[in-house]
Amino acid sequence: MAKPFACHAVAWRKRIIRASSFLLVFLPIFPAGIRAADNVSVLGTHPRWRVLENYQETITHDEFAHRVNDVYCTHGFAPDLIEINEKTARILMNRETQKFFWLRFAEKDDGRKSVPRLWRSAKSLPPAKPGKPLLGLKIALDPGHLGGKWAKMEERWFQVGNRLPVQEGDLTLRVARLLAPRLRELGAKVFFARNSDEPTTPKRPDDFRELARKILIKNGVPQSRIGGNVLDPNDPDKEQTIRWQSEILFYRYSEIRRRAALVNFKLHPDLVLCLHFNAEGWGDPNDPTLTETNHLHLLVNGSYLAEELEFDDERFEMIRRLLSRAYDEELPLADTIALAMARETGLPPYEYPTANTTTKVGASGYVYARNLLATRLYRCPVVYCEPYVMNSKDVFGRIQAGDYDGTRNVNGVERKSIFREYADSVVEGLVDYYSRARGNEL
Ligand SMILES: [Zn+2]
Repeated sequence: MAKPFACHAVAWRKRIIRASSFLLVFLPIFPAGIRAADNVSVLGTHPRWRVLENYQETITHDEFAHRVNDVYCTHGFAPDLIEINEKTARILMNRETQKFFWLRFAEKDDGRKSVPRLWRSAKSLPPAKPGKPLLGLKIALDPGHLGGKWAKMEERWFQVGNRLPVQEGDLTLRVARLLAPRLRELGAKVFFARNSDEPTTPKRPDDFRELARKILIKNGVPQSRIGGNVLDPNDPDKEQTIRWQSEILFYRYSEIRRRAALVNFKLHPDLVLCLHFNAEGWGDPNDPTLTETNHLHLLVNGSYLAEELEFDDERFEMIRRLLSRAYDEELPLADTIALAMARETGLPPYEYPTANTTTKVGASGYVYARNLLATRLYRCPVVYCEPYVMNSKDVFGRIQAGDYDGTRNVNGVERKSIFREYADSVVEGLVDYYSRARGNEL
């Protein structure tokens, strides 16, 4: 699942999420002391605008405007943030000091300078050998969440009676471990952003208690509630406690930023695959609601909210990502993987109930742009998979059946284990995409 819940079915949960999003996403954090004037998001890093000098004259006016209007800034933004002129774009670096970055456009398509980047597009890879369509491709697998003993804390846990608990972080790791050897057989170099149920970050919730307290005070939460130690996952006031806030700072913000540091500074992959399972609101995790609904969608980066673009670091990261042209690779790749997953799983496309945070992109009908930490921070193409509603009756039964070879009768239908179906369909999509892009027609 992406962010608290992809689902919007349960009214009380909706309220909590909006409140918590406000608390954590829209609160500027000013670290004490130096450079207090930068408006940086939670645990964000100060933008290094000079890096963008490397992208001068690498993009035309029309391309830039199209990316801004149709992909990245589809919800609008304050007019002083980005001003697109005929030959340049003026991008706000810091509102307090009124500093701007000036991006010069290439005059014509054929006059563009080459785009500096560490990852390689499918077309720039050498031709593949027969049977090895992924030869030389570096893929980082990012199994979403932590699972294990952290699953309850990260609210990716539910249990029906005395059946096996469902923990998203364990399911995604299982898929990643099935996927890795398959991709290696096809010639890819495969890395893991996480390969255990322990966090990648060395931090723990206690390290964030002070920051959590500041966040709550700045948002006007009464002192009496701040100190509370709520354990009940159904308590609507839980996000107004230091405990809940310090936990989410640990398992989401700190953990994903740490994985991004690993990916960006050590692994340097050509592609990151974020693996998730979706859910609909399940209510009480000890007495969850099971639903008939089941669906599939994939995410790529884009669709920034006006409030998110106010943050200097998010705006910088958006512009850098736009200029790197990650979208040109991740969109057709996401579309191709989506179609393979749809074929294999038979799932219909998920339709977000509102267009408030996402924008449908691509041609498959399954892909949305959305600004998540993971889709934004990894500096290469990122495809974020969200198949299967874990608390649908069908998927729940398949998760309980576990992993197995071949096919079995589950819920009255003969089929593969859900983990192999997931892994197989991703492999199929990657093979489709890279075979075609590298000139090895299937
Ligand atoms: Zn997830």
